[in-house]
Amino acid sequence: SMQRTRSEALYEEALKHIVGGVNSPSRSFKAVGGGAPVFMKRAEGAYFYDVDDNRYIDYLAAYGPIITGHAHPHITEAIVCAAQNGTLYGTPTELEIQMARMLKEAIPSLDKVRFVNSGTEAVMTTIRVARAFTKRNKIIKFAGCYHGHSDLVLVAAGSGPSTLGIPDSAGIPTSIAQEVITVPFNNLPALKEALERWGDDTAAVMIEPIVGNFGMVMPEPGFLEGVCKLTREAGALVIYDEVITAFRFHYGTTQTFNVFPDFKAIEPDLTALGKIIGGGLPIGAYGGRKEIMEQVAPLGPAYQAGTMAGNPASISAGIACLEVLQEAGIYDRMNDLATLLADGLRASASKHGIPLTINQIRGSFSTHFCNHPVTNYDEAQDTNGDVFGRFFKLMLEQGINLAPSKYEAWFLTTAHTKEDIEVTLAAAEIAFSKL
Ligand code: PMP
Repeated sequence: SMQRTRSEALYEEALKHIVGGVNSPSRSFKAVGGGAPVFMKRAEGAYFYDVDDNRYIDYLAAYGPIITGHAHPHITEAIVCAAQNGTLYGTPTELEIQMARMLKEAIPSLDKVRFVNSGTEAVMTTIRVARAFTKRNKIIKFAGCYHGHSDLVLVAAGSGPSTLGIPDSAGIPTSIAQEVITVPFNNLPALKEALERWGDDTAAVMIEPIVGNFGMVMPEPGFLEGVCKLTREAGALVIYDEVITAFRFHYGTTQTFNVFPDFKAIEPDLTALGKIIGGGLPIGAYGGRKEIMEQVAPLGPAYQAGTMAGNPASISAGIACLEVLQEAGIYDRMNDLATLLADGLRASASKHGIPLTINQIRGSFSTHFCNHPVTNYDEAQDTNGDVFGRFFKLMLEQGINLAPSKYEAWFLTTAHTKEDIEVTLAAAEIAFSKL
């Protein structure tokens, strides 16, 4: 079987110096039964090479940004060129204008944008701007949606149809958590109830319009329309967190995704972006309607700043990534490979009597070890995490790298091939037979 002795030794060493041995808790193997995470050394295209020289087909895509595969030559060239010209100026550059134009062309609701360094920052700032604009305090979010690790959005649902938040982390004051109301996804009556009760003091309703954080979950027909309508009736703003979803399914965001017939009816006031738009370098961005965005300093009273924001390296990588994604047929190809893989996984699981629900949205999908649909967080939680943990490790042993979380999606990239899918399905057949 596969040797990972050097990874194991490095993990022991990392534990002495880095808290938990990892720089983001999602990288730990805690949720899949423990053990040393794999230390990677190199990545190219659809493949990872670890420190023990094992090769893996990668479906993690670094939690989403690496949609063009690792070390895509066009993006690499842009990063090298940026490095040669100086990585950080602290002055404006023309590149930032080019990138802002590209985002605006793809996302009609953006009159003005601002670049930041992460999805967390982007989301955090949309909340501040919404509060400044509406002069209200509360936000409503949906259970199971993840919006980064800032205080306000790291709040989970209690029980009941709509609840005041309880902190999901130590270190968040109860007073802050009480400014957040959590309601179930795909449940308009619960949102209506929350708005009837707290609407007068609600600054914004924050949503992953297509969910990427408790599996890939589509809004049911009419749900986003309802969210936008009810929110506006309450005088609050609609914020779309498209950190995962932007440029994921097609060249654009949820509001231009052709599965939604009426673009105008699902248009948000503010949008948070990240991941793919940085081409693998750190980035975030937020934007929206002119009069709302003009709340931001130096024009308005809402302060937001950043030493690294809009740096030429991240912006160059982002522009190069968007250029690659403009190539014809790219999204259809990822969709076709994902369909092949998802169909094969379903067939193989069913042959071995393993309950498996797959939520596929174009080139990405989530796998849920259960025999019911997954349309909200309760249903996503009610799946077999132990079976997933064992499946994860059986796949890893065979050189298939997934995220160590039962909720995370499998991401196809422009680098995956039909042969990669066949190799993956052969590995899955063995994994299912051993479960
Ligand atoms: N929003 C969503 C929808 C996300 O999926 C994430 C990250 N997984 C974030 C925000 C936070 O982004 P970052 O990790 O870049 O801070």
